[in-house]
Amino acid sequence: MTYPTQPKASHFIDGAYVEDDTGTPIEVICPATGAVIATVHEATPAIVDRAIASARAAQAAWAAMTGTERGRILRRAAAIMRDRNHDLSVLETRDTGKPYQETSVADATSGADALEYFGGMAATLTGQHIPLGENWAYTRREPLGLCVGIGAWNYPTQIACWKGAPALACGNAMIFKPSETTPLCALKVAEILHEAGLPAGLYNVIQGRGAVGASLVGDARVDKVSLTGSVPTGRKVYAAAAAGIKHVTMELGGKSPLLVFDDADLDSAVSGAILGNFYSSGQVCSNGTRVFVQNGMREAFLARLAERLRGVVIGDPLDPAVNFGPMVSEAQMNIVLGYVEQGRAEGARLVCGGGRIDRPGFYLEPTVFADVTDDMVIAREEIFGPVMAVLGFDTEDEAIARANATEFGLAAGVFTSDLARAHRVAAAFEAGTCFINSYNDAPVEVPFGGAKLSGVGRENAAAAIEHYSQLKSVFVRMGALEAPF
Ligand code: NDP
Repeated sequence: MTYPTQPKASHFIDGAYVEDDTGTPIEVICPATGAVIATVHEATPAIVDRAIASARAAQAAWAAMTGTERGRILRRAAAIMRDRNHDLSVLETRDTGKPYQETSVADATSGADALEYFGGMAATLTGQHIPLGENWAYTRREPLGLCVGIGAWNYPTQIACWKGAPALACGNAMIFKPSETTPLCALKVAEILHEAGLPAGLYNVIQGRGAVGASLVGDARVDKVSLTGSVPTGRKVYAAAAAGIKHVTMELGGKSPLLVFDDADLDSAVSGAILGNFYSSGQVCSNGTRVFVQNGMREAFLARLAERLRGVVIGDPLDPAVNFGPMVSEAQMNIVLGYVEQGRAEGARLVCGGGRIDRPGFYLEPTVFADVTDDMVIAREEIFGPVMAVLGFDTEDEAIARANATEFGLAAGVFTSDLARAHRVAAAFEAGTCFINSYNDAPVEVPFGGAKLSGVGRENAAAAIEHYSQLKSVFVRMGALEAPF
């Protein structure tokens, strides 16, 4: 028995499902069929207020608990998520269209990793003792208060946990607003956290479009905002947070480069390009969508890539044999088709794909363009779909300069068998997350985030703690204090 797609109610506030059907209905569409699988209601101002009030009321007592106690609850939630991985993965697949082959290893499992990691870290969050001669000072690592998480639609469970786990470990409360396109799985995260013993109010989920997110960001009772989304939304949310001098984490979009030198292992490089362009049907922020291949290897690379793409299995994403599913929505599919048209019109060579697949749902073919030049729109803008642009290059310096010639800086990868070159190129990349002879690994132990327009702050690893806590300095004088008068 897997979870029904229709949730018990639209929101999860103060430890319970809550409905307010005066909110605008949002239909949840299964991307594999186009069918409506659930309806939720957008949060009304009353729901937003209730979520904020309950989170604020609960936060102080949570912060006063020991880190060990907080961490135990997070680790218990991680264990429950792992136990229910199958059901959570099926729900994620229905909501996002991503193949079960992916969701069963990359979504609830990645969320559980974050809960386990930050649950373990909660007891270790301490300040510092600073000796000052006979006087001294100490720092206290304190929570920020109420954190708001706003998610994109590509990794709903993962994003809900990557934001929630460090926030809760540090003693904050969180209100999470999933993307309106994929509202189902964050509710399950809230349910599981409370089942694991999280006191009511500390992890509330409310539904809605951008306006609901904006009303949370603009509320004076909110201390921090962590957004995963596009650069245009990031600009708006960052600006709104700035008005209240709020802390922010911005995980935004990218147009990341993947450099393949002609001494690279060909099959590994092709694997990197496939993982970095077609996993989740290309809907991954860190994708290496500009694949620069050294000219000596370029045609061999394209030939092997075309051969390997014949192994794609497109179909019902719930079928465990399927490794390539639909786009998340009709709107996203049409955006991507527009870019494919643009690539053709600009004169790029279509190596394979390029069209919609004739079946229900929002399926596109995995698409590869060769002979792409740096000035083409498909080489400059984030497409967020299964469209790879292959570009040639001659020298290392040229490749680095062209790789960095973008306003984005989320990720970058290099394939080479030259050890010194691998590290030299990684050091030269203007990107927050780099890969050597690999692509798109995102373990919780490693900081993740962007440079340039791709973001501010880091998620995962100890680095995330800096973004969900603040230091208070306490100066201690041991003797009498003198004053000039
Ligand atoms: P959007 O930027 O459209 O939306 C992101 C979230 O912000 C959604 O929940 C959205 O609500 C909400 N939102 C929109 N407007 C506002 C506003 N004014 N105030 C507050 N919240 C608002 O991104 P998508 O959902 O389309 O996701 C795709 C984008 O996310 C891509 O650019 C991708 O690169 C990026 N991304 C980045 C990642 C990273 O870690 N760096 C990871 C995954 C994706 P609603 O959708 O309901 O309108």
